[in-house]
Amino acid sequence: MGSGFPARQSVWFVWGSSLLLATTLSACSSKAAQTAEPISVTSSPGPAQPAVSEASSAPTVNSARALQYIKETVAFGPRPIGSANHKKLEQYIVSHVKGEHVEYDSFTADTPEGKFPVRNIIAKFPGKKDGIIVIAGHYDTNYPLRNTGYVGANDGGSSTAMLLEIANQLRGRRRDGYSVWLLWTDGEEAVKQWSDTDSLYGVRHLAEKWQSDGTLKKIKAFLLADMIGDADLNVEREQNSTPWLEDLVLQAATRLGYQSHFYSRTTAIDDDHLPFVRRGVPSADLIDLDYGYGNVFHHTPQDTVDKLSPKSLQIVGNVILQTVWMLDKKN
Ligand SMILES: [Zn+2]
Repeated sequence: MGSGFPARQSVWFVWGSSLLLATTLSACSSKAAQTAEPISVTSSPGPAQPAVSEASSAPTVNSARALQYIKETVAFGPRPIGSANHKKLEQYIVSHVKGEHVEYDSFTADTPEGKFPVRNIIAKFPGKKDGIIVIAGHYDTNYPLRNTGYVGANDGGSSTAMLLEIANQLRGRRRDGYSVWLLWTDGEEAVKQWSDTDSLYGVRHLAEKWQSDGTLKKIKAFLLADMIGDADLNVEREQNSTPWLEDLVLQAATRLGYQSHFYSRTTAIDDDHLPFVRRGVPSADLIDLDYGYGNVFHHTPQDTVDKLSPKSLQIVGNVILQTVWMLDKKN
């Protein structure tokens, strides 16, 4: 399982003196070929210590708690759209942000496997500055693997948990910067085979809705987290993302001493940011699409909690929050 979704497009280009292979991939298709640059060795950079004093206001995540959220999420079992477990997870997420301003984008998706209820969950943390930063991640798990015991600890679990932990860091804090909206996206996964029409159900619906109601033009940045728990963390430089925003993410990572985990590979990935990128919203996909040697754990029942590390959750969570705080200071 987990193979047979070939990359749809490849392109060769030269970067510096080295020849790179960039491949258009979907976050939820398996990877056919990838990269090129020598992969930098991951190191343990130690506790987050902002090198610059102005950065000290960004909060940091509790990675042990984030890992615990993954365990609790995985304990529901497979969580594909339309399932009872999916419903339980919805309730789990909503109970976690009880008391916050929560909105839903619920609709029925027409898929190659029939009609399914889809529900994006949005928790809004208001800020003083005019504009919105969205932090997103999907909470559904792979549909075709629903009867294999597949629990998606990294693919689905890590993004769900990261947003829950970021909610803890935003809760009760007055924001002088932009409003932050946490978005648990639904129906990210294909039900049959990844294509433009069989994938990204939730965000395609939401991006259209936010375009028609005027929300979209207020979004300053869309930060997406997907598959960010891998113990061997190497976040891609993702070519569908907005270059200046990725540069800012790297600056944030560098401030925290985490830069060795970022951008040693360059890849184009189809993921939940696409409908927003296509509508002109600055977006960055923080994703490590090399999960196990040769991505062997991705979309297999091997995607389990033992492959993950709280350190990786700490790195990505802190970099996201640092990026938000840096965005607050931009005009
Ligand atoms: Zn997936």
